Amino acid sequence: MEDTYRHKGLRRLLVEEIRGKGITDERVLDAIGKVPRHAFMDSGFIAFSYKDSAFPIGGGQTISQPYTVAFQSQLLQVAPHEKVLEIGTGSGYQAAVLFEMGARVYTIERQRELFVKSQQLLAALDYRIHFHYGDGYAGLPAYAPFDKIIVTAGASEIPETLVQQLKPGGRMVIPVGESGGQEMILVEKTEPDVTISRHGAFIFVPFLRGKT
Ligand code: SAH
Repeated sequence: MEDTYRHKGLRRLLVEEIRGKGITDERVLDAIGKVPRHAFMDSGFIAFSYKDSAFPIGGGQTISQPYTVAFQSQLLQVAPHEKVLEIGTGSGYQAAVLFEMGARVYTIERQRELFVKSQQLLAALDYRIHFHYGDGYAGLPAYAPFDKIIVTAGASEIPETLVQQLKPGGRMVIPVGESGGQEMILVEKTEPDVTISRHGAFIFVPFLRGKT
């Protein structure tokens, strides 16, 4: 898919909009400025690719709002070469943003169709990401521990298995709450304990158990 001057111009405006909403990490803003969001959209919504909203991507799921992607990425404090696990590949947009930030990205999706589609798309765009089909509640024990973990679906609680797969000093960002809305939670693995902090209200599709 072509990335035209018009797309690039719209992305610059989107970056400024997100900056205006309080995102200050330049590496996050740079990544949002680079990833062609129009390639990740469902065909019916392409005209809205650079609007700061979530949109349906099929399978009852959504591509996250760019501000939310930026907020979670900023809270994670991703440094180049860090190993990052994403739960909920969806469209693959968040994974591409993390890749642009220099992370080594592992991502899990429970819906086979989305897993297949995003794997093909990201390979075509030359985003070299490790894709896994399965239940994100289990994490990826074979590749653990991770520097950072990001959950992009709303969980009812903080899964202990995922905390275990964090390195000491690692960070996990996860929206926690009921289906009507969640609170963004940052879990810092400050061994022997964890430190939990709250970072505002968001709305995500649910983090479901099992795979389809
Ligand atoms: N990060 C995505 C947002 C996807 S929405 C993006 O940038 O587009 C959340 C995704 O989490 C959905 O695709 C949903 O199918 C997936 N999901 C929900 N529960 C899951 C689980 N237990 N394991 C893996 N993926 C899950």
